[in-house]
Amino acid sequence: MAQTMRAETNEIVSINPATGEEIGRVANTSADDVRSAVDRSRDAFLKWRDTSFATRKQLVMAAREVILAEMDDIAGLISRESGKPVAEALSMEIAPVLDLMQHFARNTERLLKPRMIGIGLYGLLGRSSKVIYHPFGVVGIIPAWNYPFSIPLGEAAMALMAGNTVVIKPSELTPFIGLKIGEIFQKAGFPENAVQVVTGDGTTGAALVEAPPDKIMFTGSVATGKRIAEAAAGNLTSCVLELGGKDPMIVFDDANLDLAAAAAVWGAFCNAGQSCSSVERLYVQRGAADKLTEKIIERTKRLKVGVGSDPEVSVAAMSSERQLKTVFEHVEAFKDAGAKVETGGEVIVPGFTEPTDQIETASGFFFAPTVITGATNQMLPMREETFGPTLPICVFDTEDEAITLANDSEFGLTASVWTRDRSRARRVAEKIEAGSVCINEVLYTHGISQTPWGGFKNSGRGRTHGLEGLMELVQPQHIHTNGLAILPDAWWMPYTPAATATFRRFATDFASGSIVKTASMLPQLVKRIIELLKK
Ligand code: NDP
Repeated sequence: MAQTMRAETNEIVSINPATGEEIGRVANTSADDVRSAVDRSRDAFLKWRDTSFATRKQLVMAAREVILAEMDDIAGLISRESGKPVAEALSMEIAPVLDLMQHFARNTERLLKPRMIGIGLYGLLGRSSKVIYHPFGVVGIIPAWNYPFSIPLGEAAMALMAGNTVVIKPSELTPFIGLKIGEIFQKAGFPENAVQVVTGDGTTGAALVEAPPDKIMFTGSVATGKRIAEAAAGNLTSCVLELGGKDPMIVFDDANLDLAAAAAVWGAFCNAGQSCSSVERLYVQRGAADKLTEKIIERTKRLKVGVGSDPEVSVAAMSSERQLKTVFEHVEAFKDAGAKVETGGEVIVPGFTEPTDQIETASGFFFAPTVITGATNQMLPMREETFGPTLPICVFDTEDEAITLANDSEFGLTASVWTRDRSRARRVAEKIEAGSVCINEVLYTHGISQTPWGGFKNSGRGRTHGLEGLMELVQPQHIHTNGLAILPDAWWMPYTPAATATFRRFATDFASGSIVKTASMLPQLVKRIIELLKK
């Protein structure tokens, strides 16, 4: 069972990954239509950029009200189209994005306030500088299917607050959630074309990149991220790339093991392991290894797997057949390499044995939450992103070894360190190559919209969320004023021997940053300016 099918009319058919039920059909938008959408967005931008922060705030807050009024329906749609439990649609998509919306609605004006910049000794020459922030124009948002509501909606809300207009291309696996986002902004009263949604597959996404927008916010795999960066380079369109992860959790033997076990289970299995910041590798210190593993297995066995609408279900369907196959293959690779499956390790379909043929007969994409021991960094699935409900455990002895193992990856999105020793926690956290490192906590900081989100290494470029993320959505403009515009600048033409002597003093005295040294060059400066006034 494939999750999306191409109908005769070049439509995309959206399927519930838990049941195979058809949710509906949407257009696979053509490149011409995408270009028209971007043109309309650019026209809308010309008015939207001049709206006040108060108007933008009022509209974003109105969009929140629309979500609150339709919350259960939206949670149901998210669960039906992406497979995740309704509980997670509420806790990991709707609640965090509502928080993000109120935060940026209330604070963008303050965060983007024009600011004066200290310009050192140039100030003594009567100069001043300030920075103001301009929106880019049209922001093209291309999200993945794993958080199909909160990621594009949050990025759109931030982009709009900063004065941009938005075109979203949702994943072909979750087009109705994308359309719902457009409907929310429309119901809130946003001007026509301030937010548009173009449904389609990767070719529609590629057309959006080529249109081109003025900024691209992409969330997805490293491979697609590279393709987008390459295509965007042709138009010099700047992109934020939020890419994959292989996030390590390091547990020292003095950690609270009950808490660490519960966190590992949630961090590895929420959203059926399909979070960019899932715990994908667990490193535990030898002294705590047996106890922690036992607690994790025991908790994992208690998890109910099933359709996401069942409130008792913790691990629901994966979003696509492709993901299910990857997980199956990674578990097989672990076994082949000598690791041990302690619990789970199978697709939940009676009679399933092979990765491809049997999955096609499945009525839903369910994989049992899987705990694996004896994993090592040499095993392929410890190096590639699994993006599924697996928790491989590897034992270490020393702090240095833990850091080396955690950093031995092309990815660097998030990581966590578990210990009661706060100085060790901070020391280790600062040595981990990742965009976010949690101490005695896992995964959830994408939900804190005040903090920057983004990866080191192949996990991405740029940031979303926080001040850093907001800055990605604006162009700083420097406005410089000469408050003493009555005299020529000493560095103007014509050049003379006195000019050369003055410039030498600029190099040795002014550029030292010392007021005393700069004061000592005043006679030379005066001489040069008198010379210029005479010429
Ligand atoms: P993909 O890279 O396959 O797709 C991401 C988006 O890009 C989809 O909307 C897709 O459309 C679109 N797309 C595909 N091809 C192109 C193209 N040539 N040009 C433009 N757009 C294109 O990723 P997945 O959807 O499989 O997402 C999973 C990945 O996302 C994982 O690696 C995960 O770690 C990462 N991710 C990272 C996050 C972060 O914050 N760092 C957060 C969430 C996920 P379509 O689906 O229709 O093909």
